[in-house]
Amino acid sequence: MRVLFVTSECYPLVKTGGLADVAGALPLALADDGVDARVLLPAYPGVRDQLQGARRVATLPDVFGGPAGLVHGTTVDGLHVWLLDAPHLFARKGGGPYTGPDGRDWPDNHVRFAALSWVGAHVATQGVGRWKPHVVHLHDWQSALTAAYLRFGPQPAPPSLLTIHNLAFQGVFGLDIAAQLRLPPAATHDDGMEYWGNLSFLKAGVLWSTRLNTVSPTYAREILGNEQGMGLDGLLRTRAHELSGIVNGIDDTVWDPATDPHIAHHYSVHKLPAKAANKTALQHELGLHVRPDAPLVCVISRLSWQKGLDLLLGALPRLLAAGGQLALLGSGDRDLEAGFRHAAVSHPGRVAAVVGYDEPLAHRLQAGSDAVLMPSRFEPCGLSQLYGLRYGTLPVVARVGGLADTVIDANEAALRDGVATGFQFSPVDTDSLAVALERVCDLYPDRTAWQRVQRRAMSRDVGWATAARSYVALYHRLAGEAAASTSR
Ligand code: ADP
Repeated sequence: MRVLFVTSECYPLVKTGGLADVAGALPLALADDGVDARVLLPAYPGVRDQLQGARRVATLPDVFGGPAGLVHGTTVDGLHVWLLDAPHLFARKGGGPYTGPDGRDWPDNHVRFAALSWVGAHVATQGVGRWKPHVVHLHDWQSALTAAYLRFGPQPAPPSLLTIHNLAFQGVFGLDIAAQLRLPPAATHDDGMEYWGNLSFLKAGVLWSTRLNTVSPTYAREILGNEQGMGLDGLLRTRAHELSGIVNGIDDTVWDPATDPHIAHHYSVHKLPAKAANKTALQHELGLHVRPDAPLVCVISRLSWQKGLDLLLGALPRLLAAGGQLALLGSGDRDLEAGFRHAAVSHPGRVAAVVGYDEPLAHRLQAGSDAVLMPSRFEPCGLSQLYGLRYGTLPVVARVGGLADTVIDANEAALRDGVATGFQFSPVDTDSLAVALERVCDLYPDRTAWQRVQRRAMSRDVGWATAARSYVALYHRLAGEAAASTSR
């Protein structure tokens, strides 16, 4: 089985979010199941230099306004990558994959990601050398248009799977760009990718991909509803029987408390008491009172409306009244940054706030805290709660999306049966959040019960193997259906 990933990010080459982790880790996990998955990615500045054995393997004379080529190489982990080397679209100094140095979207993002998608469809149907995929795997709006080029291009075309990592990002552009997309008028009319007077790349993917999935079963259900459907729920409902949810894995070698190079004291489910020294070190580092008996709750997050951290500012007095401490690492919304800085100044020794992005500190927070909080309003999958499970840092989560699917609430029955792995709350409001934090502080002094939950959490398999098996099943189903339809 050969699978082509078309993606705008891939760890460790280029990353702005969780999509990069999936595109970097899933193909490697698939290899263990006998799937040859390779990645097509834009050649952003500096990416080629990270590949081993990089060399040009194909020339594409006209890719949306300029000559381009494909450069093949492998990552340090042995992942095969083709870079779309189109200097007129991707070789730009400053900024990131989607935004320029001024922080604004590149004005021609529609052309840049139409080009990636168009080349994706080209590789899917023509192959590179002797390599030709059985299935094409698309990710989010940046590669969703591949489904349109496959639908309206030369046949037969291989089947496609679109993974929606976050429905909030849809790639919406003005109708006036239609002529630049190299698609027939039928594709851009209102039965096609037209979307409330604009064009939506993600809608094209939802319409024309052979199958759809998202990154947790609960999110797959939620996006069929008006509240979380972001305007696409009607269309998604028409394809509900072709939409599934597969929870992401994490890189359990990078996130392993037994070997983590960022933490001072290694521990594991068999050496749990050693975790305490990380808490002491963290309390020292952040200027918190060094108190082993105070439950320390951490947050590691983008500060945005989605993440629900405005609710935490409201619930904070009740956490502190219950004897807890808070350590927050995050950046984003200016008001939230100011709010947490102010909370730290108002409650010295009990609240610490670090504004910024700091990967090593994220590891120290997971290792040194007792609980990790995610009060998200919506969360397609979520990663921090999975790291929390791995580190015995009990997740305290809103009962939405992937958070609902990955944490078992420490209610009385779950505690009695020994299956609890964290805390859930619902609805997502200040009072429910405060109650959940109070429950954390209530359970914490019962060391036997707490450690039982920790052990259960740390025993959960959160690596990629489970997700990879689910994807393999989907690919086989797609390839089988395609073979059956061509033989008819
Ligand atoms: P999202 O992708 O919506 O931001 P996830 O929970 O899926 O949320 O992934 C967030 C990832 O980003 C986690 O790996 C988390 O550790 C990391 N992260 C978020 N903010 C920071 C920060 N300020 N410093 C370090 N890591 C961060």
